[in-house]
Amino acid sequence: MSPRFDGPGIVVVGASLAGLRTCTALRRLGYDGRLTVIGDEPHPPYDRPPLSKEFLAGRADGADLSLPGAGLGITWQLGRRATGLDLTARTVEIDDGALFPFGGLVIATGSAARPWPAPAPPAGVHTLRGLDDARSLRAALRRDGRLLVIGAGFIGSEVTATARGAGVEVTLVEPEPQPLRRAVGAAAGEFLAALHRRAGVDLRTSTKVLSLDRVREHTGARLSDGTDVTATAAVVALGSAPSTDWLTGSGLDTTEGVLCDRHARALLRDGTPATDVVAAGDVARWPHPWADTPGITLGHWSHATEQAEIAARSLLFPETPADYRPVPSFWSDQYDVKLRSVGFPALADSVDVRENDPDTRRLDVAYYRHGRLIGALTGNRVARIAAYRSRLATDLEGEAGATAAAGR
Ligand SMILES: Cc1cc2nc3c(=O)[nH]c(=O)nc-3n(C[C@H](O)[C@H](O)[C@H](O)COP(=O)(O)OP(=O)(O)OC[C@H]3O[C@@H](n4cnc5c(N)ncnc54)[C@H](O)[C@@H]3O)c2cc1C
Repeated sequence: MSPRFDGPGIVVVGASLAGLRTCTALRRLGYDGRLTVIGDEPHPPYDRPPLSKEFLAGRADGADLSLPGAGLGITWQLGRRATGLDLTARTVEIDDGALFPFGGLVIATGSAARPWPAPAPPAGVHTLRGLDDARSLRAALRRDGRLLVIGAGFIGSEVTATARGAGVEVTLVEPEPQPLRRAVGAAAGEFLAALHRRAGVDLRTSTKVLSLDRVREHTGARLSDGTDVTATAAVVALGSAPSTDWLTGSGLDTTEGVLCDRHARALLRDGTPATDVVAAGDVARWPHPWADTPGITLGHWSHATEQAEIAARSLLFPETPADYRPVPSFWSDQYDVKLRSVGFPALADSVDVRENDPDTRRLDVAYYRHGRLIGALTGNRVARIAAYRSRLATDLEGEAGATAAAGR
């Protein structure tokens, strides 16, 4: 089944989870035409979650992370960066000036770690997004050293936990009063703070790093609490931003991510879908019925996987596109605690803390908005998260049914 994209076929930009999963779905749905994947990293697709966990701890290597892509009939263009998109000529431009024509286009360029703001940080200050970053951070971690982690979001917290597990002293600096406060609220943030402190982390909350410098082998940081920290390695973990630079001037709406409709079709600035262009994964901004804004972005593994399926369907069957209405889910492993989240804890206006016990390492928080369950976060309570998920899924399906019945 290829007539729709005879000739140049489908081009996927971004050779990682969302790009690969879209290719897998395209083939499974019957597409047997040309499939080209362009990726700026030199590596074939690999899984990122272990980078801050098993890989950093030295318990996994590059080969353990690889995502299976054999047998899909893909022409790989690795180590090549897309620099432009022309929707009229229907070409993607590459950094060496080459043009790749496409019939259908999948945008799956993910997101990039937010850098330390100007002026640029001194040498030896790391960010963590890709395999090469993780290799260089792993090489810099020394058992007798001190690591400075700037930002106690998911990546900063996981790096901290992994480094402590390897016996490295860590100072973790976070401007909010608790780690991950904006994502999961104060109560769960307090649980996470307790985990760090009990592991011997020097956690500085409500504190900012004002400046960084390097003296010989050491990174020095001046903190807003008036103290200085000296570390043998430093990690800037300030979150990530969608990788949309290459789409500038293309006509697509790329404000805070590639804006899509509910079928994962990329939208032009006038709000109409671009012909045969879809987006999936961290790079996409898309509407969810429970979010008040026209679009949200999610940096979750499961989202990249699930939206890829919808994107493939929209490309192949534009007359009957599927809706993307997931119950988002996320996991994070910190110390010996398996954190699991479903729904949208960040959108809650009230929380019910059912369990919060750093001694037993157990957490169970339900999040509500306007009195209705909107999300949950558990620690070492995997069975409970399944129950929350099915309740949220039932609510979402019920609403979809009601919307359809009302003809909206
Ligand atoms: C260290 C780390 C730990 C994580 N842990 C978890 C976890 O525990 N649980 C969880 O749910 N999620 C986790 N995530 C998030 C998860 O890995 C991402 O949501 C997922 O990788 C998104 O997939 P993606 O394909 O959309 O984007 P990405 O994986 O970012 O892939 C995008 C690809 O496109 C490439 N690219 C960018 N611009 C261009 C261009 N112009 N031309 C060509 N190629 C380009 C990028 O280099 C990259 O290879 C973690 C992420 C990181 C970095």
